[in-house]
Amino acid sequence: MTFEDLHLLRNIQQALKEEGYENPTPIQEQAIPIILEGTDLVGCAQTGTGKTAAFAIPILNTLHRIVGGASKRKLIRTLVVTPTRELAIQVEESFSTYGKYTNIRSMVVFGGVNQNNQVDQLKKGVDILIATPGRLLDLHKQGFISLDHLHYLVLDEADLMLDMGFINDVKKIIKLTPENRQTLLFSATMPIPIRELADTFLTKAKYVSV
Ligand code: AMP
Repeated sequence: MTFEDLHLLRNIQQALKEEGYENPTPIQEQAIPIILEGTDLVGCAQTGTGKTAAFAIPILNTLHRIVGGASKRKLIRTLVVTPTRELAIQVEESFSTYGKYTNIRSMVVFGGVNQNNQVDQLKKGVDILIATPGRLLDLHKQGFISLDHLHYLVLDEADLMLDMGFINDVKKIIKLTPENRQTLLFSATMPIPIRELADTFLTKAKYVSV
């Protein structure tokens, strides 16, 4: 299979070509069509399998079609929750790279630093927010983040969020999002609390594993 077979927008295909991506990895081959059709997904995949692009590419493809016009207001349409700031930064870089020929704006928020810069950026408007759980809840509580217009919620490295003690924060975050969202959960392992999370908060999810 090639990326052409996935019928992605030309401007996204061009960005992938420039990255030297020729063929989708197995997780991408399986996950991208499911995400494009609008179905919830549980992806069992380690780092290094191309899992970030597996969700970033179809999300960008759909968002560009919905809000690609320059005049569209910037509202948070996608939230990616990650356990660490390092992962959050990497995920944001992936969205920026694959989306460089779209008008989609992404940004990252994480704790341990002063929030003022993050708040300034949020005020400018953003389509895709990548966040660690604590800072996200903090900024939401202060009224700087609205999740009312969310299409996509991605829980990345869910098992690590469990190990790091973020599971209750993650549940709180999910409850702040609209019920008609599309939810994507990625995890390298599937311990029982992660299965339960998927059973509780995902709807008719398809499972893919690599
Ligand atoms: P990840 O599993 O998301 O951490 O990605 C691992 C690495 O694979 C990253 O450096 C990506 O840039 C790279 N990558 C992702 N998808 C592809 C692809 N289809 N072809 C070549 N490299 C890729």
